[in-house]
Amino acid sequence: QCPWGAPKTASISCSLADVMSEQLAKELQLEEENAAFPEVVAVAEGPFITGENIDTSSDLMLAQMLQMEFDREYDAQLRREEKKINGDSKVSISFENYRKVHPYDSDSSEDEVDWQDTRHDPYRADKPTTTPRKGFTGKGKDITTKHDEVVCGRKNTARMENFAPEFQVGDGIGMDLKLSNQVFNALKQHAYSEERRSARLHEKKEHSTAEKAVDPKTRLLLYKMVNAGMLETITGCISTGKESVVFHAYGGRSATEDKVIPPECAIKVFKTTLNEFKNRDKYIKDDYRFKDRFSKLNPRKVIRMWAEKEMHNLTRMQTAGIPCPQVVILKKHILVMSFIGKDQVPAPKLKDVTLSSEDMKKAYYQILNMMQQLYKECNLVHADLSEYNMLWHDGKVWLIDVSQSVEPTHPHGLEFLFRDCRNVSQFFQKGGVAEALNERELFNAVSGLNITADNEVDFQAEIEALEKMNEDHVQNHGKKLAMFSSDGDPPIYDE
Ligand code: ADP
Ligand code: MN
Repeated sequence: QCPWGAPKTASISCSLADVMSEQLAKELQLEEENAAFPEVVAVAEGPFITGENIDTSSDLMLAQMLQMEFDREYDAQLRREEKKINGDSKVSISFENYRKVHPYDSDSSEDEVDWQDTRHDPYRADKPTTTPRKGFTGKGKDITTKHDEVVCGRKNTARMENFAPEFQVGDGIGMDLKLSNQVFNALKQHAYSEERRSARLHEKKEHSTAEKAVDPKTRLLLYKMVNAGMLETITGCISTGKESVVFHAYGGRSATEDKVIPPECAIKVFKTTLNEFKNRDKYIKDDYRFKDRFSKLNPRKVIRMWAEKEMHNLTRMQTAGIPCPQVVILKKHILVMSFIGKDQVPAPKLKDVTLSSEDMKKAYYQILNMMQQLYKECNLVHADLSEYNMLWHDGKVWLIDVSQSVEPTHPHGLEFLFRDCRNVSQFFQKGGVAEALNERELFNAVSGLNITADNEVDFQAEIEALEKMNEDHVQNHGKKLAMFSSDGDPPIYDE
């Protein structure tokens, strides 16, 4: 029934992961996140979740987790034994080489090829001072050539100092160690590749912090979407905000024929850390659409409601033909929508693009129109409209981030609209659009109201008075004031 309901999945497929994940979901619902799943989950390589051989990889994931746990236990035991043997002896034996979890543990597959490409190797030491071109120094019987074993060996030892600082070379010079060219080169290669591997691993870790931004339960839901074939691959994170994390994904195939999944999707995960949402109460608490539900809800459900709100609002906007992401599916606190951008590159925010004055003017009129449409046709006020939540794509402006949007009759709806108008007006006036209305003119143009105050304070006071009037009216008559109904046509501004 619901377009955002669970997609029909093939009934037979019941991998170990499915069974496990159901149990897991239940478990997780009871206790609070974390503990159940160790970090290991985030260790997955490459694209964060892929559709390829997903069935085996799910079992694989479980197997890997078990293996990892086993390895950790093994290492812990090793450490205990190491300690026992060494006691407080001054000479100690290290079991380092027997450990299962190597600090740099990762795929070493490319390493061999990697170090050979030295065209721009950042770790390459400066040219060591070599024997001059002629190939020898000195005179007569003191002559030494570059092939002199002793000199060369010492030089090689000294050159080891040029290895990256993390590479423990020991006191080779003090020991008068003489390294043959062969050994030196082997060591050098090892040092480079180890260094690069560590750098890569570090990068990977950085990347996986973003992945860790989603809790295990979310990960599981995302994973299921991929498993169901709805999404092809979740490639990575586009944005991490206070209240949401947005991922990019390639769309898969739809379970139902009538629905087409866009080739590229954005996945907005509303964060389940509750604190951030506390200050958003005022948006939703007074929104009559959610009134009945608000009081009874537990905080987790409130967060789902934000996602639901964004979905409803986007759908309204879509119907009115306002350029905005198209809703693909809503699952709990996860909203999948079409991706605004191309080839994994999200469209830039209006604040980040430099538009020609012509485009700037075009964008302004477009936004003016969209604000009117939003108000009149969608019966919505964006409530967080600014150059941060407008993307420039395909030569036009796209509105995003509408989870906090409210109806104009929301007890603070007009205040929110005024704030939106101020942002838009200021942005375009600073951007050199001479035609841009000031915030008060814009407010009237969008709302169709006719507030005449010529200064901000009085204007604001009138707005609040109107809001109060509407509230009283709702209290007394159980319905909104007529002036808010979308019958009164606000003038549509056009170029
Ligand atoms: P927040 O509440 O964190 O601001 P947004 O909905 O504004 O959430 O999303 C955060 C960022 O993610 C946006 O600024 C935008 O860069 C990117 N983004 C969100 N939705 C999409 C989308 N459908 N297509 C492309 N990029 C998107
Ligand atoms: Mn935003």
